Amino acid sequence: MEVIREKADMRAWSRRMRRDGKSLALVPTMGYLHEGHLSLAREARAHADVIVVSVYVNPGQFAPSEDLSTYPSDFQGDLRKLSQTGVVQALFCPRNLYDYDTPGPLSVPPRHRLSAGSGEEQAPVSCLEKERGGGTHETWVRVERLEKGMCGASRPVFFRGVATVVTKLFHIVEPDVAIFGKKDYQQWRIISRMVRDLDFAIEIIGSEIVREADGLAMSSRNVRLSPRDRKQALSINKALSEAKVHISKGSVSSQEIKDRIIQTVSDAGGRIDYVEIVEQESLEPVEKIEYLVVICIAAWFGDVRLIDNIEIDVPAV
Ligand code: AMP
Repeated sequence: MEVIREKADMRAWSRRMRRDGKSLALVPTMGYLHEGHLSLAREARAHADVIVVSVYVNPGQFAPSEDLSTYPSDFQGDLRKLSQTGVVQALFCPRNLYDYDTPGPLSVPPRHRLSAGSGEEQAPVSCLEKERGGGTHETWVRVERLEKGMCGASRPVFFRGVATVVTKLFHIVEPDVAIFGKKDYQQWRIISRMVRDLDFAIEIIGSEIVREADGLAMSSRNVRLSPRDRKQALSINKALSEAKVHISKGSVSSQEIKDRIIQTVSDAGGRIDYVEIVEQESLEPVEKIEYLVVICIAAWFGDVRLIDNIEIDVPAV
Protein backbone atom coordinates (compact mmCIF):
# COMPACT_ATOMS: atom_id res chain seq x y z
CA MET A 1 0.00 0.00 0.00
CA GLU A 2 1.36 3.40 -0.98
CA VAL A 3 1.21 6.35 1.41
CA ILE A 4 0.72 9.59 -0.50
CA ARG A 5 0.88 13.01 1.10
CA GLU A 6 0.91 15.56 -1.71
CA LYS A 7 -2.07 16.51 -3.88
CA ALA A 8 0.03 16.44 -7.05
CA ASP A 9 1.43 12.98 -6.24
CA MET A 10 -2.07 11.68 -5.55
CA ARG A 11 -3.41 12.95 -8.86
CA ALA A 12 -0.40 11.57 -10.74
CA TRP A 13 -0.86 8.16 -9.07
CA SER A 14 -4.56 8.03 -9.99
CA ARG A 15 -3.89 9.00 -13.57
CA ARG A 16 -1.21 6.32 -13.82
CA MET A 17 -3.76 3.76 -12.66
CA ARG A 18 -6.28 4.98 -15.20
CA ARG A 19 -3.71 4.82 -17.98
CA ASP A 20 -3.24 1.18 -16.99
CA GLY A 21 -6.97 0.68 -17.51
CA LYS A 22 -7.88 0.46 -13.83
CA SER A 23 -11.04 1.91 -12.29
CA LEU A 24 -10.69 3.73 -8.97
CA ALA A 25 -12.74 3.88 -5.78
CA LEU A 26 -12.29 6.50 -3.07
CA VAL A 27 -13.23 6.04 0.58
CA PRO A 28 -12.98 9.41 2.36
CA THR A 29 -12.45 9.27 6.15
CA MET A 30 -11.15 11.33 9.03
CA GLY A 31 -9.04 8.47 10.35
CA TYR A 32 -8.92 6.65 13.69
CA LEU A 33 -10.23 3.79 11.62
CA HIS A 34 -12.57 1.11 12.85
CA GLU A 35 -14.47 -1.79 11.30
CA GLY A 36 -17.09 0.63 9.92
CA HIS A 37 -14.46 2.37 7.80
CA LEU A 38 -12.85 -0.90 6.78
CA SER A 39 -16.22 -2.25 5.63
CA LEU A 40 -16.38 0.66 3.18
CA ALA A 41 -13.02 -0.35 1.73
CA ARG A 42 -14.23 -3.95 1.34
CA GLU A 43 -17.46 -2.74 -0.28
CA ALA A 44 -15.34 -0.63 -2.65
CA ARG A 45 -13.67 -3.79 -3.88
CA ALA A 46 -16.95 -4.78 -5.56
CA HIS A 47 -17.02 -1.53 -7.55
CA ALA A 48 -13.47 -0.77 -8.69
CA ASP A 49 -10.04 -2.24 -9.41
CA VAL A 50 -8.01 -0.07 -7.07
CA ILE A 51 -8.98 1.55 -3.80
CA VAL A 52 -7.78 4.80 -2.27
CA VAL A 53 -8.64 5.61 1.34
CA SER A 54 -8.15 9.20 2.40
CA VAL A 55 -7.53 10.25 5.98
CA TYR A 56 -7.97 13.95 6.61
CA VAL A 57 -9.53 15.77 9.54
CA ASN A 58 -11.09 18.68 7.75
CA PRO A 59 -11.02 21.98 9.66
CA GLY A 60 -13.58 23.36 7.20
CA GLN A 61 -16.37 21.25 8.70
CA PHE A 62 -15.75 21.97 12.38
CA ALA A 63 -17.05 25.07 14.12
CA PRO A 64 -14.54 26.67 16.48
CA SER A 65 -16.66 25.44 19.41
CA GLU A 66 -16.54 21.81 18.24
CA ASP A 67 -14.13 18.94 18.84
CA LEU A 68 -11.49 19.45 16.11
CA SER A 69 -8.60 19.64 18.59
CA THR A 70 -9.70 16.52 20.49
CA TYR A 71 -10.62 14.47 17.42
CA PRO A 72 -8.76 11.17 17.91
CA SER A 73 -5.97 10.08 15.58
CA ASP A 74 -3.68 7.07 15.26
CA PHE A 75 -1.70 7.09 12.05
CA GLN A 76 0.25 3.89 12.69
CA GLY A 77 -2.92 2.05 13.69
CA ASP A 78 -4.74 3.27 10.57
CA LEU A 79 -1.84 2.15 8.39
CA ARG A 80 -1.79 -1.30 9.96
CA LYS A 81 -5.58 -1.79 9.72
CA LEU A 82 -5.71 -0.70 6.09
CA SER A 83 -2.78 -2.96 5.16
CA GLN A 84 -4.45 -5.89 6.90
CA THR A 85 -7.59 -5.56 4.78
CA GLY A 86 -5.45 -6.46 1.78
CA VAL A 87 -7.78 -4.47 -0.49
CA VAL A 88 -6.40 -0.92 -0.28
CA GLN A 89 -3.73 0.22 -2.74
CA ALA A 90 -3.18 3.79 -1.54
CA LEU A 91 -3.61 5.87 1.59
CA PHE A 92 -3.92 9.58 0.87
CA CYS A 93 -3.18 11.60 3.99
CA PRO A 94 -2.52 15.20 3.03
CA ARG A 95 -1.10 17.56 5.67
CA ASN A 96 -3.23 20.50 4.59
CA LEU A 97 -5.75 20.50 1.78
CA TYR A 98 -6.09 24.26 1.93
CA ASP A 99 -2.46 25.03 1.23
CA TYR A 100 -2.45 26.62 -2.19
CA ASP A 101 1.16 27.65 -2.28
CA THR A 102 -0.03 31.19 -2.79
CA PRO A 103 0.50 34.13 -0.45
CA GLY A 104 -0.49 32.84 2.98
CA PRO A 105 -2.96 34.34 5.40
CA LEU A 106 -0.44 36.65 6.97
CA SER A 107 0.39 38.26 3.65
CA VAL A 108 -3.27 38.87 2.83
CA PRO A 109 -4.05 42.49 3.57
CA PRO A 110 -6.39 42.61 6.61
CA ARG A 111 -9.19 44.21 4.65
CA HIS A 112 -9.19 41.22 2.28
CA ARG A 113 -9.28 38.58 4.98
CA LEU A 114 -12.41 36.51 5.39
CA SER A 115 -14.21 36.76 8.64
CA ALA A 116 -17.71 36.57 10.00
CA GLY A 117 -19.55 39.67 9.04
CA SER A 118 -17.11 40.72 6.33
CA GLY A 119 -19.73 40.22 3.61
CA GLU A 120 -23.27 41.38 3.41
CA GLU A 121 -24.55 38.08 4.73
CA GLN A 122 -22.82 36.77 7.85
CA ALA A 123 -20.82 33.75 6.67
CA PRO A 124 -20.72 30.68 8.89
CA VAL A 125 -17.26 30.45 10.43
CA SER A 126 -15.39 27.17 10.61
CA CYS A 127 -12.04 26.32 12.18
CA LEU A 128 -10.51 26.93 8.77
CA GLU A 129 -11.32 30.62 8.77
CA LYS A 130 -10.90 30.97 12.49
CA GLU A 131 -7.53 29.26 12.97
CA ARG A 132 -5.85 30.95 10.08
CA GLY A 133 -7.18 34.37 10.87
CA GLY A 134 -8.98 34.26 7.53
CA GLY A 135 -7.16 32.16 4.94
CA THR A 136 -7.11 32.53 1.20
CA HIS A 137 -9.77 29.86 0.76
CA GLU A 138 -13.13 31.38 -0.09
CA THR A 139 -15.03 28.90 -2.25
CA TRP A 140 -17.67 26.67 -0.69
CA VAL A 141 -20.05 24.06 -2.06
CA ARG A 142 -23.52 24.14 -0.56
CA VAL A 143 -26.42 21.77 -1.06
CA GLU A 144 -28.92 24.37 -0.04
CA ARG A 145 -32.00 22.55 1.20
CA LEU A 146 -30.57 19.22 2.30
CA GLU A 147 -27.85 20.86 4.43
CA LYS A 148 -30.33 22.77 6.59
CA GLY A 149 -32.20 20.16 8.65
CA MET A 150 -31.10 17.61 11.24
CA CYS A 151 -27.30 17.79 11.77
CA GLY A 152 -27.22 21.04 9.77
CA ALA A 153 -29.47 22.78 12.28
CA SER A 154 -27.06 22.44 15.20
CA ARG A 155 -23.88 22.40 13.05
CA PRO A 156 -24.39 25.21 10.51
CA VAL A 157 -20.91 24.99 8.93
CA PHE A 158 -20.76 21.22 8.85
CA PHE A 159 -22.23 20.21 5.50
CA ARG A 160 -20.75 23.19 3.70
CA GLY A 161 -17.37 21.94 4.92
CA VAL A 162 -18.10 18.31 4.02
CA ALA A 163 -19.39 19.07 0.50
CA THR A 164 -16.39 21.31 -0.13
CA VAL A 165 -13.72 18.91 1.10
CA VAL A 166 -15.33 15.99 -0.72
CA THR A 167 -15.34 18.05 -3.91
CA LYS A 168 -11.65 18.78 -3.40
CA LEU A 169 -10.91 15.10 -2.81
CA PHE A 170 -12.89 14.16 -5.92
CA HIS A 171 -10.85 16.59 -8.00
CA ILE A 172 -7.56 15.40 -6.57
CA VAL A 173 -8.19 11.65 -6.64
CA GLU A 174 -10.50 11.58 -9.68
CA PRO A 175 -12.26 8.35 -8.66
CA ASP A 176 -14.94 6.50 -10.64
CA VAL A 177 -16.77 5.51 -7.48
CA ALA A 178 -16.87 6.82 -3.91
CA ILE A 179 -18.19 4.93 -0.90
CA PHE A 180 -19.93 6.61 2.04
CA GLY A 181 -21.41 5.05 5.17
CA LYS A 182 -25.14 5.25 5.79
CA LYS A 183 -24.16 5.85 9.41
CA ASP A 184 -23.88 9.51 8.31
CA TYR A 185 -27.14 9.32 6.44
CA GLN A 186 -27.65 13.02 5.71
CA GLN A 187 -24.04 13.32 4.55
CA TRP A 188 -24.48 10.41 2.12
CA ARG A 189 -27.65 11.95 0.67
CA ILE A 190 -26.04 15.39 0.41
CA ILE A 191 -23.02 14.05 -1.45
CA SER A 192 -25.29 12.05 -3.78
CA ARG A 193 -27.33 15.18 -4.50
CA MET A 194 -24.22 17.29 -5.05
CA VAL A 195 -22.83 14.75 -7.51
CA ARG A 196 -26.13 14.66 -9.40
CA ASP A 197 -26.65 18.43 -9.42
CA LEU A 198 -23.08 19.27 -10.47
CA ASP A 199 -22.63 16.40 -12.94
CA PHE A 200 -19.64 14.81 -11.28
CA ALA A 201 -18.78 11.64 -13.21
CA ILE A 202 -18.64 9.64 -9.99
CA GLU A 203 -20.95 6.95 -8.72
CA ILE A 204 -21.84 7.30 -5.04
CA ILE A 205 -22.44 4.13 -3.05
CA GLY A 206 -24.07 4.07 0.39
CA SER A 207 -22.79 1.27 2.61
CA GLU A 208 -24.59 -0.28 5.59
CA ILE A 209 -23.93 0.74 9.22
CA VAL A 210 -21.49 -1.45 11.13
CA ARG A 211 -22.28 -1.89 14.82
CA GLU A 212 -20.49 -3.19 17.89
CA ALA A 213 -21.74 -6.55 19.17
CA ASP A 214 -24.04 -4.73 21.62
CA GLY A 215 -25.60 -2.57 18.90
CA LEU A 216 -23.75 0.74 19.30
CA ALA A 217 -22.95 2.15 15.86
CA MET A 218 -19.18 2.24 15.42
CA SER A 219 -17.74 5.74 15.49
CA SER A 220 -14.31 7.24 16.02
CA ARG A 221 -15.91 9.31 18.77
CA ASN A 222 -16.92 6.24 20.82
CA VAL A 223 -13.48 6.16 22.49
CA ARG A 224 -14.31 9.45 24.16
CA LEU A 225 -17.35 7.96 25.93
CA SER A 226 -16.92 7.16 29.62
CA PRO A 227 -17.94 3.58 30.51
CA ARG A 228 -21.17 4.98 31.99
CA ASP A 229 -21.98 7.10 28.94
CA ARG A 230 -21.18 4.22 26.64
CA LYS A 231 -23.70 2.06 28.44
CA GLN A 232 -26.31 4.79 28.26
CA ALA A 233 -25.61 5.27 24.56
CA LEU A 234 -26.96 1.78 23.86
CA SER A 235 -30.39 3.36 24.33
CA ILE A 236 -30.06 4.84 20.83
CA ASN A 237 -30.03 1.51 19.04
CA LYS A 238 -32.60 0.14 21.46
CA ALA A 239 -34.99 3.04 20.73
CA LEU A 240 -34.51 2.78 16.97
CA SER A 241 -35.04 -0.99 16.95
CA GLU A 242 -38.18 -0.66 19.08
CA ALA A 243 -39.46 2.01 16.71
CA LYS A 244 -39.04 -0.34 13.78
CA VAL A 245 -41.04 -3.01 15.60
CA HIS A 246 -43.82 -0.52 16.42
CA ILE A 247 -43.99 0.58 12.81
CA SER A 248 -44.10 -3.01 11.58
CA LYS A 249 -47.07 -3.55 13.90
CA GLY A 250 -48.94 -0.67 12.32
CA SER A 251 -47.90 2.56 14.09
CA VAL A 252 -47.90 5.32 11.50
CA SER A 253 -47.73 8.52 13.55
CA SER A 254 -44.29 10.12 13.32
CA GLN A 255 -44.93 12.17 16.42
CA GLU A 256 -45.83 9.13 18.47
CA ILE A 257 -42.75 7.22 17.34
CA LYS A 258 -40.48 10.23 17.92
CA ASP A 259 -41.89 10.73 21.42
CA ARG A 260 -41.17 7.10 22.31
CA ILE A 261 -37.57 7.42 21.07
CA ILE A 262 -37.01 10.67 22.95
CA GLN A 263 -38.39 9.06 26.09
CA THR A 264 -36.18 5.96 25.86
CA VAL A 265 -32.96 7.90 25.20
CA SER A 266 -33.69 10.63 27.77
CA ASP A 267 -34.59 8.06 30.43
CA ALA A 268 -31.23 6.38 29.83
CA GLY A 269 -29.43 9.71 30.44
CA GLY A 270 -28.89 10.98 26.88
CA ARG A 271 -29.52 14.58 25.84
CA ILE A 272 -31.44 14.69 22.55
CA ASP A 273 -30.21 17.00 19.79
CA TYR A 274 -32.87 15.85 17.33
CA VAL A 275 -35.04 12.93 16.34
CA GLU A 276 -36.51 13.17 12.83
CA ILE A 277 -38.46 10.82 10.61
CA VAL A 278 -37.81 11.81 7.03
CA GLU A 279 -38.34 10.56 3.52
CA GLN A 280 -35.22 8.61 2.53
CA GLU A 281 -34.07 10.58 -0.48
CA SER A 282 -35.46 14.08 -0.01
CA LEU A 283 -34.97 14.05 3.78
CA GLU A 284 -38.33 15.82 4.06
CA PRO A 285 -40.01 15.18 7.43
CA VAL A 286 -43.13 13.02 7.21
CA GLU A 287 -46.15 13.10 9.48
CA LYS A 288 -47.31 9.62 8.60
CA ILE A 289 -44.94 6.70 8.18
CA GLU A 290 -46.17 5.12 5.01
CA TYR A 291 -43.14 4.10 2.96
CA LEU A 292 -39.35 4.41 2.64
CA VAL A 293 -38.45 6.62 5.55
CA VAL A 294 -35.41 6.86 7.78
CA ILE A 295 -35.43 7.69 11.46
CA CYS A 296 -32.42 9.82 12.33
CA ILE A 297 -31.20 10.75 15.77
CA ALA A 298 -28.42 12.79 17.33
CA ALA A 299 -27.90 12.76 21.08
CA TRP A 300 -25.26 13.77 23.60
CA PHE A 301 -23.79 11.45 26.16
CA GLY A 302 -21.49 13.46 28.38
CA ASP A 303 -19.62 15.73 25.97
CA VAL A 304 -19.84 13.30 23.05
CA ARG A 305 -22.45 13.77 20.34
CA LEU A 306 -23.49 10.54 18.62
CA ILE A 307 -25.63 10.04 15.54
CA ASP A 308 -27.45 6.97 14.30
CA ASN A 309 -30.39 6.04 12.11
CA ILE A 310 -32.56 3.20 10.87
CA GLU A 311 -34.12 2.84 7.44
CA ILE A 312 -37.73 1.71 7.38
CA ASP A 313 -38.43 0.11 4.04
CA VAL A 314 -41.42 -2.04 4.81
CA PRO A 315 -44.83 -0.50 4.36
CA ALA A 316 -46.84 -0.30 7.55
CA VAL A 317 -49.60 -2.93 7.77
P1 AMP B 1 -15.58 9.60 9.41
O1 AMP B 1 -14.16 9.16 9.53
O2 AMP B 1 -16.35 9.53 10.68
O3 AMP B 1 -15.72 10.90 8.67
O4 AMP B 1 -16.28 8.52 8.47
C1 AMP B 1 -15.78 8.23 7.20
C2 AMP B 1 -16.76 7.36 6.48
O5 AMP B 1 -16.98 6.17 7.22
C3 AMP B 1 -18.14 8.03 6.31
O6 AMP B 1 -18.65 7.73 5.02
C4 AMP B 1 -18.94 7.38 7.38
O7 AMP B 1 -20.33 7.36 7.13
C5 AMP B 1 -18.37 5.99 7.40
N1 AMP B 1 -18.63 5.34 8.67
C6 AMP B 1 -18.30 5.78 9.91
N2 AMP B 1 -18.76 4.94 10.85
C7 AMP B 1 -19.41 3.95 10.20
C8 AMP B 1 -20.11 2.78 10.61
N3 AMP B 1 -20.25 2.47 11.89
N4 AMP B 1 -20.65 2.00 9.66
C9 AMP B 1 -20.53 2.30 8.35
N5 AMP B 1 -19.87 3.39 7.88
C10 AMP B 1 -19.31 4.20 8.80
